[in-house]
Amino acid sequence: MRRWLPRTLAARLSLIFLLSLVLAHGLSFGLQTFERYNSARTLMLSNFERDIATAVAILERLPATERPAWLARLERPNYRYQLDDGQPGTPMLNASESVSVRTILATLGPAYHISFQTIADSRPHYQAHLQLNDGQPLTIDVRPSIMPISPWLPVLLVAQLLLLVLCTWLAVRTALAPLTRLARAVDNLDLKRPAAPLDESGPSEVAYAAVAFNSMQARIAAYVKERVQLLAAISHDLQTPITRMKLRVEFMDDSADKDKLSNDLSEMQHLVKEGVAYARSTEPSSEPPLRLQLEPFLQSLVFDYADMGKNVQLLASADAVLHTRPQALRRLLTNLIDNALKFAGAAELNVSQNANGLWLLQVLDRGPGIPEQELADVLKPFYRLESSRNRDTGGTGLGLAIAVQLAASLGSGLRLRNREGGGLCAEFELLY
Ligand code: ATP
Ligand code: MG
Repeated sequence: MRRWLPRTLAARLSLIFLLSLVLAHGLSFGLQTFERYNSARTLMLSNFERDIATAVAILERLPATERPAWLARLERPNYRYQLDDGQPGTPMLNASESVSVRTILATLGPAYHISFQTIADSRPHYQAHLQLNDGQPLTIDVRPSIMPISPWLPVLLVAQLLLLVLCTWLAVRTALAPLTRLARAVDNLDLKRPAAPLDESGPSEVAYAAVAFNSMQARIAAYVKERVQLLAAISHDLQTPITRMKLRVEFMDDSADKDKLSNDLSEMQHLVKEGVAYARSTEPSSEPPLRLQLEPFLQSLVFDYADMGKNVQLLASADAVLHTRPQALRRLLTNLIDNALKFAGAAELNVSQNANGLWLLQVLDRGPGIPEQELADVLKPFYRLESSRNRDTGGTGLGLAIAVQLAASLGSGLRLRNREGGGLCAEFELLY
């Protein structure tokens, strides 16, 4: 049953409304027509009965010479009288089936001998033959007619149908528009930026749904904010004791334990710093956008790495001027380059302009890449593959999560993909 239904709710509702309305309408129209036909027929037959009785009585009374002059006056649209034997025809077989024949028989039958003949003509009709009392033949020519239909009736029916279609469309649209709006709002629900609340006006059910959605959106945003603030607070407050501990370790006697402790503390410090950075990256950025020359900006980034003895190359750049937040962009690229250096030992930067005119920035490496099914997961906070890869690459698993937030704050999206021939490509697009 489901398979026969149209796919959209709008189409289903329209179908149900339209079918039931047309059916109900057709039924009442049919009943009315039937009723009209019945009463018209009853009226017509009783008129017919009285009319032929009167007409035959008048003809009987008139002298034979005056009769022809009266025939025209006695004539009716459906039947007329002739003072002859009529046209040749075939005797009517099932005469009693016709109501008009039965009426004639009932009215004139007792006094006259009547025979009926069917005349095959362009429009078939029948004739009743009898003899007046003075011996003159009389023929009643009867042409049963179908009930006439007014010419405007089909036009009216079509107009009514159009009205039904229009009303159905209006009703379905009114009912479904808020649903579509709600679905779109849910789809666009983005907790990173304050979303405009849904319009809470309209019919009460719609307003109620909008109010419920708005309060849900606010609640979720508040929960998320609370968690991130918690992370920020803990990370921030840990910084001081860690620094204190590092100082204390510095004063310890040289030993293997001192080195291990110092390393652990450095790792903790890194974790804490990343935690604060992540918490900050989820907040709306306060850094003002500036005009930025892309080529010198990237070159200085590469030189900074070269100074530290890291292998970072700028493959191709462009003389582009962007309107963007330099600190966020720098941090974003640094996170990606750090990963490439950590997992592949070398990084390459590439800038190109894509078909839409956007600048595409890519950080490429020839490292192990990331299994396809985990490409989405590594973008989540604290998700690392290193435990399974069993390599000594310390990290918190926040680098890419921060990069995603930063890219979003620059109005872009970060994409990861494995390169042909091995290695990873991390890329994002920037507007002018
Ligand atoms: P952090 O950056 O916080 O110090 P991390 O580098 O381990 O730690 P992410 O930068 O978020 O964390 O990266 C998550 C995981 O994705 C990494 O642990 C690593 O397994 C994988 N990954 C990221 N970049 C690459 C890369 N260029 N090549 C191979 N694997 C990568
Ligand atoms: Mg990293």
